[in-house]
Amino acid sequence: MKSWLASKRFIAAAGHVAVLAGCFGLAWSVASRAVAKRVNNYAWDVTTRDAPIVGWQPQSVVVAIDENTFKERGGVQAIRAILSEALDKVAAANPKAVAIDVTLPDASRIVSDDAHLEASLRATHNLVLPCRIVPGGWEDPLPRFKVLAAALGHVERDEDPLDGVSRQVPLEETVPGERRWALALEAFRLTQGQHIIESPDDLEVGPTVIPTPHGEKGRPLRIRYLPMGTIPQISVLDIDQQRETIRGRTVFLGVTDLSATKDRLINPFGAYIAGVAVNAHAFETLMRGQFLSPPRNQTVLLVCLGFTAVAGLTFAFLSGWPAYALTILLIAFAAYLPALLFRENIVFPLFEPLAVACLTSAGAATYQHFFVRRQLRRSESERSRYQQAIHWAAHEMRTPLTAIQGSSEIMTRYSLPEEKRHQLSEMINSESKRLSRIIQTFLDVERLADGQMEMKREPFAAADIVETCLKRVRPLAERKQITIDLENPPEGSFLGDRELMEYAFYNLLTNAVKYSPAGTKTRVFSESRGGELRLAVKDQGIGMDSKELKNIFKKFYRTKRAEASGEVGTGIGLSIVEQIVTHHGGRIEVSSEPGKGSCFTMVLKTHVRASGNAETIDR
Ligand code: ADP
Repeated sequence: MKSWLASKRFIAAAGHVAVLAGCFGLAWSVASRAVAKRVNNYAWDVTTRDAPIVGWQPQSVVVAIDENTFKERGGVQAIRAILSEALDKVAAANPKAVAIDVTLPDASRIVSDDAHLEASLRATHNLVLPCRIVPGGWEDPLPRFKVLAAALGHVERDEDPLDGVSRQVPLEETVPGERRWALALEAFRLTQGQHIIESPDDLEVGPTVIPTPHGEKGRPLRIRYLPMGTIPQISVLDIDQQRETIRGRTVFLGVTDLSATKDRLINPFGAYIAGVAVNAHAFETLMRGQFLSPPRNQTVLLVCLGFTAVAGLTFAFLSGWPAYALTILLIAFAAYLPALLFRENIVFPLFEPLAVACLTSAGAATYQHFFVRRQLRRSESERSRYQQAIHWAAHEMRTPLTAIQGSSEIMTRYSLPEEKRHQLSEMINSESKRLSRIIQTFLDVERLADGQMEMKREPFAAADIVETCLKRVRPLAERKQITIDLENPPEGSFLGDRELMEYAFYNLLTNAVKYSPAGTKTRVFSESRGGELRLAVKDQGIGMDSKELKNIFKKFYRTKRAEASGEVGTGIGLSIVEQIVTHHGGRIEVSSEPGKGSCFTMVLKTHVRASGNAETIDR
């Protein structure tokens, strides 16, 4: 019984785990798709907006070559003259460093512009000039400008390929043979007056350690954008009036007129932003020294497994609204987790934990729902089966009870001759034994149907049960003038439960008697073949057609013919007989023809006697 229950529980638990594993696998497989990355990007942007940096004094200014500057100074052709003017004016404000985000690879058509620019560059302290990757290598400024720079910094971008948002810049770029640091990083280290010390997992600039974990290609710096408008942006035309803003800060000088630049980027706030401003935000990120990093893949996996476990345990131990309430909390926590960890500077994905929490909870809930419903159905059918069984037992008990009652009444009312008294008390004795057998059979059959029967396994001679049953059925048969012939007593023995087997065979005999007209013959014969014993009861009774034959082992089925015969019955006996025989590893064969009789054959394996010890098995 215990092992039966344990195995049911094990199967239920294994099913639960399998459903969870399936849901987890599904969510995890979707996590590698573009949709998941988009969701994660979106979550990152939303958390950036929802957790703005406050109280930070920007250390940089963007000196903007804007629309007005171009309008006033003669358009894009005048860019070098504009740069010279801006640099001269900026120098007067004494900035810490100046990073220019306008590439200067070619000589200007206006020779004097280059000469002027050269002079302005020479006068600029801590100058960072840009370079970028072109086919064949680095595109540097003209040599006459390049020599004047304290550093060259690349202006390569790292927009997200899915949504084009600039969330990070590569701190290092290498084209065969030559590695360059990012413009913002060079400006940062010049501002700090430090060198860059590199190790596999980070870059050190003075006291600042920039984590570049897990060997990510290009050592991306995740930009922690300041709220829009926080970094001062000064038009070239207004530098003189804004000298105090520039003083002591690092200047990022570049084109912000979006119509004049190819550098139209999108920031996490969903707005267009000039490349030079992106560099300023990257610089501020470095200055603040709080760096965003992604979690390790294993960490995400572990967290998701944790969510799966909680979803599984919730529905394993709770049901109804407490389970659903906890699930809502779990999903809410999964949705909130990226925002929570963002405060710790971790860019945690949203899709993976959320998808895992939702899918595994839904899977676990559905599984439990169907499991519980199945349990309910089973317990309902068990209840009705139990009621039917009680009905059967009550019916079966009526006959011996009537006999006992009648005999005892006769004995008390009348003074009978000794021989008659003896006969009646023997009858009372045998009928009460029958009664107890019925009760025992009822209990056994109950447990048999429940699948938790501890069936006896003892050897007994086939001839013994045949003899006992024939002795019991003969008085019944005689009342109907039916003769029962035992043609050949069976040889060999069975292994199993003698009581149950007796019940089964007796049932076949009583049916033969019940469903045969008076004066007919019933034959009992046996045959041993290939380790099997075939024990048959053949009557000359009302018989059955093929349709009826298909149903006779169903509980409570009775043929119309049987009902019309006037014989009382419950239609349960054969279903029990079949259960008993199959539990003994055997089968029942039936052949019948309406009006011509039926033949029921029990086919059972014979037992080769080894030792006489009785044993029990747990079924
Ligand atoms: P019961 O005899 O109490 O009705 P059983 O389960 O023993 O229940 O039998 C089921 C039905 O099978 C019977 O009602 C009867 O219709 C049919 N049946 C069983 N044995 C015979 C038989 N020997 N001859 C004809 N019909 C039979």
